Amino acid sequence: MYNQPSPLEVPVLTRRFRLPNSHKIDTYLANEGYQAFEKAIGMSQDDIINEVKASGLRGRGGAGFPTGMKWSFVPRQSPKPKYIIVNGDESEPGTCKDRLLMEFDPHQLIEGILIAGLAVGAHQGYIYIRGEFRYLIEHMDRAIDEAYARGYLGDNILGRGIKFHLATHSGAGAYECGEESALLESFEGKRGNPRIRPPFPAVAGAYSCPTVLNNVETYCAVPSIILKGAAYFAGLGSPKNGGTRLFCLSGHVNKPGVYELPMGFNLMRLINEVGGGVRGGKKLKAVIPGGSSCPVLKADECDLNLDFDTVAAAKSMLGSGGVVVMDEDTCMVKAALRIMRFYAHESCGWCIPCREGTTWLRKVLQRFHDGQGVKSDIVLIGDLSRNMLGRTFCPLGDAAAMPTIAFVEKFRDEFEAHLDGKPCPYEKKLVAA
Ligand code: SF4
Repeated sequence: MYNQPSPLEVPVLTRRFRLPNSHKIDTYLANEGYQAFEKAIGMSQDDIINEVKASGLRGRGGAGFPTGMKWSFVPRQSPKPKYIIVNGDESEPGTCKDRLLMEFDPHQLIEGILIAGLAVGAHQGYIYIRGEFRYLIEHMDRAIDEAYARGYLGDNILGRGIKFHLATHSGAGAYECGEESALLESFEGKRGNPRIRPPFPAVAGAYSCPTVLNNVETYCAVPSIILKGAAYFAGLGSPKNGGTRLFCLSGHVNKPGVYELPMGFNLMRLINEVGGGVRGGKKLKAVIPGGSSCPVLKADECDLNLDFDTVAAAKSMLGSGGVVVMDEDTCMVKAALRIMRFYAHESCGWCIPCREGTTWLRKVLQRFHDGQGVKSDIVLIGDLSRNMLGRTFCPLGDAAAMPTIAFVEKFRDEFEAHLDGKPCPYEKKLVAA
């Protein structure tokens, strides 16, 4: 089992997680499983897509693009086969919910994929799972075998003349492959570098064929939308942000965990009422609201609702739902360095601003943290980051630059406190404690 539930949760996607054998098809069938798919069989392609549009479901991988609209871009009349691809790469630091969705309710994902297949007229799907999730690949394979054995996958599904085949595909464990075009390259057996777009995957995705590509959580929301209706799902969230979200709460809180809450849930309530407050009764210093690529929020900016638009208005991002809490004893220089170490390691090297920029930033931040920074380094960090913004081939460059800019702008005093050979004030506190 994962973390203890919170009474404030609204379990929709996670509602079967705590049932015995929640991953088995018999449990799924006994608890509304595959009913949405059977309902969708009787719907037209337009009806399915319109229902998903009306639900307000937005992609849960990070960008928040409206899912129904994405599906509507797939051409109806195409001589090429169409594909459904699942992004199960989950590699954003701070995010750990897709793995739970696959582990505890794999048939919900399979059902969402089947409905997407009906919506766009696809007969083949692949679940791209990062290589480190070896156990999940085998776990999903067993669920897919069950679905074949019970007639929910195959050439003549439920004797209704519907054909759909599904398989898992293992990634090699690269952050870059969470970006959809790089994922497609990797899926096709090539090095996971991003593609020039347009064309977008809806028109030319896997093997240059029309492709729907969504995150695990996005597909998992679809059965509830079809079964219970768009209005039900939309009503769970906030305007233009339908449904619930699996928030991954980590860092300095008393009860870290994955919690399913309505879109638009207040961040301070998440920390205090769901997460039990800041660990050790300490003061809140900052929060990263959506995974490591999202600009940090200072404590006094955290009284806001967690939906895509409100967090964007606060100049950060809801991202992939990874909420990282930092208490008053956290060194912001060290936090920025830890994040940049990750991006410098994960840069695929395809474009110069990202390849050189992340490496340079990592070195300057390390120098700073070691007490060897000079005042001009503060300006240099800002310049290097801003020179990456919007000038890289894929969003990883921005993902590395945006949080760094926020760290320097919002916590400049902490950077200055590390100047002129002074040891990190927070390291001193840790040693004293
Ligand atoms: Fe590769 Fe970084 Fe350029 Fe993306 S931004 S293509 S990760 S070098």
